Amino acid sequence: MSIGVGVFLKICQERIMKNVDYDLVIIGGGPAGLTAGLYAARARLKTVLIERMVPGGQVLVTDWVENYPGFPEGISGIDLVQKMAEQAKRFGLEIETDDVLSLDLSGQVKEIRLNDKTITAHTILIASGASPRRLGIPGEDTFWGKGVSACATCDGPFYKDRVVAAVGGGDTAVQESIFLTKFVKKVYLIHRRDELRATGILREQALANDKIEFLWDSALTGIEGLTNVEKITVKNVRTGDEQKLPVNGCFIWIGILPNADFLGDSVERDEFGFVRANAHMETSVPGVFAAGDVRRTPLRQIATAVGDAAIAAFSAEHYIQNLEK
Ligand code: NAP
Repeated sequence: MSIGVGVFLKICQERIMKNVDYDLVIIGGGPAGLTAGLYAARARLKTVLIERMVPGGQVLVTDWVENYPGFPEGISGIDLVQKMAEQAKRFGLEIETDDVLSLDLSGQVKEIRLNDKTITAHTILIASGASPRRLGIPGEDTFWGKGVSACATCDGPFYKDRVVAAVGGGDTAVQESIFLTKFVKKVYLIHRRDELRATGILREQALANDKIEFLWDSALTGIEGLTNVEKITVKNVRTGDEQKLPVNGCFIWIGILPNADFLGDSVERDEFGFVRANAHMETSVPGVFAAGDVRRTPLRQIATAVGDAAIAAFSAEHYIQNLEK
């Protein structure tokens, strides 16, 4: 006796559902990945979070977080992400240390190639974050997160009535320098050319702001201090002249790069390499979601990352429920 096509398809579907390692694989262990892990674990999805190093992402190198709700006195970046990881693990999130090398998204079942094995999943969340570009100068790594930063929203309020340096001439450097003038006494805006790349209105606002002193044709070549940033070296790239300036902090805004090399062209990305995802955090590939800084988004904050992630986990849960029907 032959079985009907519908029954046959259902049997195949059940086999596929059973033979897949995970309901959800989360790539990246920053606030977005950990929040999605919490929501997915509570939704009883079989979930693993893959993180290259220790969970935490960029927040790990953020000395003090004052703009994440619920901590009126602020909280150290490390403490905040440790609490997020503990909370997700309490509900059963698995966290594995490994590198995601590439993805195969060609079938309904997705393949995630790691260093020494390949795992399969019904859904994937890309939460691999982004990294601010660095100059690669002495003192930059030593003081990163402790006086050198790429986030004015996070760190600007620490420099009330103090002097800071900012590097870059694009929209970010100019807009964020203007924002810093709400707090600081002075911003040295160091740019390697003699004109700004930033858009007209931002240029006008910055040039009219008497708290911003422009150092044109200049490069930041060194950051020094004992325990805090105390002074910088700035070199004029035309004349070669160097000067030392006393500052309390530095902001480096020379672009931000998505941590997305492993994606290749598997999902649609914008001209800067950030993953395009809609309001449901769905990417161009069904069953693949993106959340947090790796996503094309107007604001990159812990609060926005966790919001994206809650939606992404919810969308993944619904996608899987529809597969089971
Ligand atoms: P960006 O536009 O790529 O500008 C980077 C700036 O850093 C440029 O001025 C560049 O100098 C400088 N730079 C790059 N490498 C450097 C190095 N090694 N040493 C010194 N300076 C270096 O990056 P962004 O400002 O982060 O903006 C990224 C995108 O987001 C842009 O499309 C921007 O329009 C957009 N954005 C928009 C808004 C807004 O609409 N309000 C706000 C922020 C960002 P050169 O000019 O000499 O190349």
